Amino acid sequence: MHKLASPPSCNDNGGVNTVGAGRYAPSPSGDLHVGNLRTALLAWLFARSTDRQFRMRVEDVDRGRDAGAAQQQLEDLSAIGVTWDGEVVYQTHRRAAHEAAIETLRSRDLVYECVCTRREIQEAPSAPHAPPGAYPGTCRDRTQQEAAAARATILPRRPALRLRVAEGQGEQTFRDELCGELSGHVDDFVLQRGDGAIAYNLAVVVDDAAMGVDQVVRGNDLLSSTPRQVLLQQLLGYATPQYAHVPLVLGPSGARLAKRDGAVTLQDLSRLGMSAAQVRSMLAFSLGLADQGEPVEMVDLIERFEPAKLPREPWIFIS
Ligand code: GLU
Repeated sequence: MHKLASPPSCNDNGGVNTVGAGRYAPSPSGDLHVGNLRTALLAWLFARSTDRQFRMRVEDVDRGRDAGAAQQQLEDLSAIGVTWDGEVVYQTHRRAAHEAAIETLRSRDLVYECVCTRREIQEAPSAPHAPPGAYPGTCRDRTQQEAAAARATILPRRPALRLRVAEGQGEQTFRDELCGELSGHVDDFVLQRGDGAIAYNLAVVVDDAAMGVDQVVRGNDLLSSTPRQVLLQQLLGYATPQYAHVPLVLGPSGARLAKRDGAVTLQDLSRLGMSAAQVRSMLAFSLGLADQGEPVEMVDLIERFEPAKLPREPWIFIS
């Protein structure tokens, strides 16, 4: 087994008659680049080739609410042929469900307040057997009075809420379609930040379950989050979806592809004379699903798609 370095009750499914679904969940932090588009294409192929539905969720809790960026992302996804079922779900509209999940955990004494700053966490000695960077448990065992006193010391800041991970649950194992069986450490991670924002891990688990998602395909930069999400699924009574973490696209420097790497978005490439269909063809070529320059339709790609044959190495994109 590989070790990671770090750590249905479906009442809001957008009217979709769920038979199992895959999804793509972009954060609206700017235009999607070819790496994001490639991951979206793969998520779509995994879902459609297994007769699943495909859902779309805009993860706007974390990085502001740039409605313009989200709209452009959705247009770009449509332009390359990534279609979805039901309404787009905006994570900021899901606040009540996120809070209800935290309340469920809190009612079982699985949530505690944390007043630590990032710096205090970095400087604290780590707990025995925990990897570096894991939360050392400073605020975990406070009585109600102690927690109230600690809260008063950080005003006007508010405490974050962390999950109390029980002994025996701090290591979670899951199967990945591409990477095999993996396990990783789970610390007492944040469910809600001090500024009130719902943390990614909580939101993603609650929303995937509500949207009927039983297949999660995403970039392998998120692998280290998966053990946390698997534990949350167990605690909240959700089934663990099938996972496939796909290789990232790298820029010429070997680092993860970014805007500074030149013409990387659909708009950039269109200015260079490349149509959305040509970008789709290029992505298909990078996945071994088309010859170089071969025009391809999405239906052709479903026919040709075989997860076992996908390249396992990152794709280096040089525009
Ligand atoms: N919103 C995340 C991102 O854009 C993806 C989250 C997920 O797929 O679970 O990186």
